[in-house]
Amino acid sequence: MIVESTSFKDFKLNKQLLEAITQAGYTNPTPIQIKAIPLISAGHDLMGIAQTGTGKTAAFILPLLMKVKYAQGLMPRALILAPTRELVLQLHQEVVKLSAFTDLRSLAVFGGIGPKSQIEAIERGVDLVIATPGRFLDLYLRGDLKVKALNTLVLDEADKMMDMGFMPQIRRILEVIPVKRQNLLFSATMPDEVLQLSQEFLEFPEIIEASPSATPAVTVTQYAYQLPNFKTKVNLLHHLLKDVETFCKVIVFVKTKKVADNIYKYLVRSTEGEIRVIHSNKGQNARMNSLSAFKNDEVRVLVSTDVGSRGIDVTMVSHVINFDVPLVYEDYVHRIGRTGRAENFGVAITFFNPAEVYHIAKIEQLTGQKIDKRTIPPEVVIESTSRDEQQLLDRAIDRQKQLDDPNYLGAFHRKSGKRTSKGISRQKRR
Ligand code: AMP
Repeated sequence: MIVESTSFKDFKLNKQLLEAITQAGYTNPTPIQIKAIPLISAGHDLMGIAQTGTGKTAAFILPLLMKVKYAQGLMPRALILAPTRELVLQLHQEVVKLSAFTDLRSLAVFGGIGPKSQIEAIERGVDLVIATPGRFLDLYLRGDLKVKALNTLVLDEADKMMDMGFMPQIRRILEVIPVKRQNLLFSATMPDEVLQLSQEFLEFPEIIEASPSATPAVTVTQYAYQLPNFKTKVNLLHHLLKDVETFCKVIVFVKTKKVADNIYKYLVRSTEGEIRVIHSNKGQNARMNSLSAFKNDEVRVLVSTDVGSRGIDVTMVSHVINFDVPLVYEDYVHRIGRTGRAENFGVAITFFNPAEVYHIAKIEQLTGQKIDKRTIPPEVVIESTSRDEQQLLDRAIDRQKQLDDPNYLGAFHRKSGKRTSKGISRQKRR
């Protein structure tokens, strides 16, 4: 049985690591760290169900650093795979922070930039590699990265890696690295593909959960506004952001790049403070610049699509505003995980239109938490809905009803008059 510790000193970490923990300002281990660190240190394979904001990164990095201990040879001994460049960089930062008092050499390996500087760093010798699967495989296949000495493999955000189609690369990597190794898998949610991967990849794993799958961090206050249309959403956003003091560091999440760009342009014209936008069409440098400016409090509002939502490690975000409801319901948890991280309190506000009522209910089902619905502040102008938008909303609502009841023919079809349903005969009689 593992005795639960409450102090970092109980983990038998060396003094270099304890010093880095103090320097990082971590006073007490978080629940996932209390569970994971002793198990990983004891050499177990482990599956951790944990969302960002729980301290899961340090939960595996600390025992990993303890294991790798000091610089040795030229070839890496630990590999951490993560789905996005942003996450790789974020993981690397945590590794750098926690290994500050050791001589360990860590390297972030990711695509989108030329491989030259990464190859040079590998040649100088590296103990820990944090990589996206694609670039890692490229460097391996070119013969630049030797895998013979690897004895620990971590898959972080495994669910996102599956979503992003990294399975073939991961399988290929598993084929080429030494069989004798410790494996760790972390995932915010546990869909079937991740469960299957864990069965293939982990040997007699210990399973730990930071909080039940897909449960938002308890430090986040969640509420929502129902708004009739896009323009009214914009008006409410504008109204909220007028309060510069309360809404001091905000991420606005939107579903598509196009809406992200439009909202960004609108906010630049209408809202106080520096505004930036990140999505997958922005170049790597632009994304990194915006993120670090946001981190350093030089940017007040960051508009982002879901692609941006995973890799963002920014504490003290005052508010997450979901301009729309994500259709991948787990993304809701990831989006609002940007606020209320670790010990900070945060607020997540969701805007939903009549066609999104359905998705809000599904999210409440998934998280097991009710989202408080608030009335629109009286200062916000309620716009009328254009015919085009109304049609889109009606169609979406129809599709949802059909999903729930395959026999439902739909109000939209009724209006078109092409179907002979009870609905249409009733309408004709009227
Ligand atoms: P993560 O869940 O790994 O994304 O971590 C979320 C945030 O919590 C990061 O900014 C970490 O630096 C921070 N953090 C990790 N462990 C602790 C701890 N024990 N105490 C306070 N903050 C922590």
